[in-house]
Amino acid sequence: IAMIFYLGVGQGYASHYLWPEQTLINIFIVPLSIEFAVMGVLLFAGSFLQITKQPRGWRIAFQILLTMIGLSIIPTPFIGAKILDIVLPFILLTFIFVLSLAIHAWLNGYKAARFYLISWTIFLIVTFISTLESMGFFTITKLIPDQMILFSSVYVAAFQSIALADQFGLYKQETINAQSAFMEEQRKALTLTKELTQTLEHAREELEEKVSERTRELTEVNEKLAREVIERERAQQEAELLARVDPLTGLFNRRHFSHLADMKFKNAIRYKHPLSILIFDIDLFKKVNDTFGHQIGDQALIHVAEIFQRQARGSDVLARYGGEEFIALLPETTSADAQHSAERLRKMLEDSILQIKGHSISLTISIGIAGMEIVDEMTDFEELLKQADEALYLAKGAGRNRVVVFEKKSFTSEPTLE
Ligand code: GH3
Ligand code: MG
Ligand code: MG
Repeated sequence: IAMIFYLGVGQGYASHYLWPEQTLINIFIVPLSIEFAVMGVLLFAGSFLQITKQPRGWRIAFQILLTMIGLSIIPTPFIGAKILDIVLPFILLTFIFVLSLAIHAWLNGYKAARFYLISWTIFLIVTFISTLESMGFFTITKLIPDQMILFSSVYVAAFQSIALADQFGLYKQETINAQSAFMEEQRKALTLTKELTQTLEHAREELEEKVSERTRELTEVNEKLAREVIERERAQQEAELLARVDPLTGLFNRRHFSHLADMKFKNAIRYKHPLSILIFDIDLFKKVNDTFGHQIGDQALIHVAEIFQRQARGSDVLARYGGEEFIALLPETTSADAQHSAERLRKMLEDSILQIKGHSISLTISIGIAGMEIVDEMTDFEELLKQADEALYLAKGAGRNRVVVFEKKSFTSEPTLE
């Protein structure tokens, strides 16, 4: 506005239209308008080129120039155009300062300074030359036409408008750039979040898969272990049974018999109960093997064991004592009672003919018995066995197929002839 006013005054339009016939005003209105115009130039430059952000030296120079030109306004109405003699160096310095500031700002990356710089370069060149001209440097030829000053001022106004628009555009571009950069960042962050989520999801699925796989494996191992435990228990039971039982006849073996008999014997001693031992041996069994073969011999052993078991009482302890030798421990049984049982057994075997593979095999047994009566003083089980064995030996010696009860003075029961 100050520039336009200055031009108006300079070209005489103001005096012609605004204050005609007031010639007195024209004396100081020209220097005043110059001063205001230069101040306007300085303030615009300070604002546009961001003087507050410039180094300290620039700011001080700016303050000094502004103060000097501002102060020159005060005496102007009184001394008129004479003030220009004092203020002109500051006006020239102002132009140099503004130009330098623009170059400085531009070189420091402030893009908006470019149009500003162009406008001032043109204006200053024109003004400088025309000033020198008016000061009488070029008297012969007139280098700059009068209208040039006006045009250059219009250029300044136009370029400075462009500079403003440019600055605005730059700000806008910067804002857009910042916004798109921000959006790009957001997009990246979003992509990253998505990727992260996917990775996490993937990891979770993998983990679940592994856990279930491990669980499956564990379950399998557990089941296998349980099966193995059952299998082992079964094997153990089997082994225990095998350790106790004779595999051919299913009767207890000698070892287990000794174990059981020992307990029963001790009980009988303690409570003074009767107890008897019965041992029998198959007569001439070798001949059975020799005649019919070992396999039929085995069948004969099973047959004998079956009959033995059938006629026994539940509380009796039966066992296969050796090859074709069997034993029974009879609790709560005196030797006289045992003799009856033995006789029954002997008879039963004699009567039961074994039919096998077209052969009829008749077997007899010899039985030895040893009894421990209530009043008996004897406490040795081995002794009792020995007595029963001795009785058996006697039975064999007396012609087989008979029962002998051990006695201090042994007696023999003859086979009944039926
Ligand atoms: P004795 O009346 O004096 O007892 O005559 P024996 O022939 O029965 O006596 P010996 O001791 O001479 O023979 C017993 C036979 O029993 C010999 C053996 O081959 C047979 N024997 C022992 N254990 C088994 C077996 O498990 N299976 C078969 N088949 N034979 C057996
Ligand atoms: Mg025999
Ligand atoms: Mg024998």
